[in-house]
Amino acid sequence: MSMAAPAFNLRTDLDAMWLLPSLKPRIANQLAGLVNTAPAWMKNERPLVSFSFDDVAKSAAHSGARLLAEHGATGTFYVSGSLVGTHSDYWINADRDDIVELIRSGHEIGCHTHGHLSIANATPERIFAETRTNTRFLRTLEPDLKIDNFAYPFGRASPGLKKRLATRFHSSRSTRAEVNHGRIDLQLLSAFPLMDRKMTPRVIDRILDRAVQTNGWAIFYTNDVALQPSPYGCSPALLAYALTAAEARGIECAPIRDALLKIGAERTF
Ligand SMILES: [Zn+2]
Repeated sequence: MSMAAPAFNLRTDLDAMWLLPSLKPRIANQLAGLVNTAPAWMKNERPLVSFSFDDVAKSAAHSGARLLAEHGATGTFYVSGSLVGTHSDYWINADRDDIVELIRSGHEIGCHTHGHLSIANATPERIFAETRTNTRFLRTLEPDLKIDNFAYPFGRASPGLKKRLATRFHSSRSTRAEVNHGRIDLQLLSAFPLMDRKMTPRVIDRILDRAVQTNGWAIFYTNDVALQPSPYGCSPALLAYALTAAEARGIECAPIRDALLKIGAERTF
C-alpha cells in the first residue's frame, strides 16, 4: 500500500512561512508601510529638520548635544533604559546623569523600548509592555518627564505594533529614508541615517533641498558622535555640516515633539 501524499494545506503552509524568523519581521515591516495608522496632513509654515539620537551613546549626549546647542538647536534622544550606563559593542552609553543633563538642557527624551526589542524578537504586546518599563525607568530620573515619541529599535515596525503604539505615543520614527511631506503616518515617520558610512554632504544637500521644495520635514538619526564614529554613528563634522546646511536654507530645526506641533499633528490618544 502506498502512502497518500499529504494534502496541500494553504493555511499550514502560510503559517510555516510566516514563522520563518528572518522573513516575518521583513514582511511585517513592509506591510507597516501600506497601512496608514495615524494619518496627518502637514500644515507647517516653514520646512523643518529634526536631529535624533538612538539608544543613547555618551558621545551623542555630550558632543552631539553640544553641537546642537552651538546652533541654538535641541534634539530628540530615544533612550533604551537597559542600555543606560552600559558599554555597547561600539560605544559607551550615556549614564543617568547624562540623561538628566539632556533633560535640563531642553532636549527631548523619547522612548526606544527598555530592552531595545524589535518585532524580530518580541510581540507587539511585549514591546508595548517594554515602553511602560522604559517610561517608569525614565521617570526615576525626572518624575514629570513627558515621553510622547517613540523610535522603532532597528527601524522595524509592523501594522500591529503601529496600532498599539498609537494608543500611547504621538509619533513613532522609522528608518525609511524619505522627507516627510503632505499626508504622513505619525506612527511611521521617515528618517535618514546621519552616519559617515552611509551619508555624504552632497546627499544631505539633496535631502534638505527636497525639504524646501516640498515644505517638508527631514529627520536624521544617528548613534555615537565621534571623530572616528562607529558604523552607526557620525563625525562632529557631518553633524555640523547638516546643521549649517539646514540653517543656510532657512529650515527650522526642532525636536520631534516641537516639529509635531508645527505640522499641526493631532494626537491619536
Ligand atoms: Zn537603537
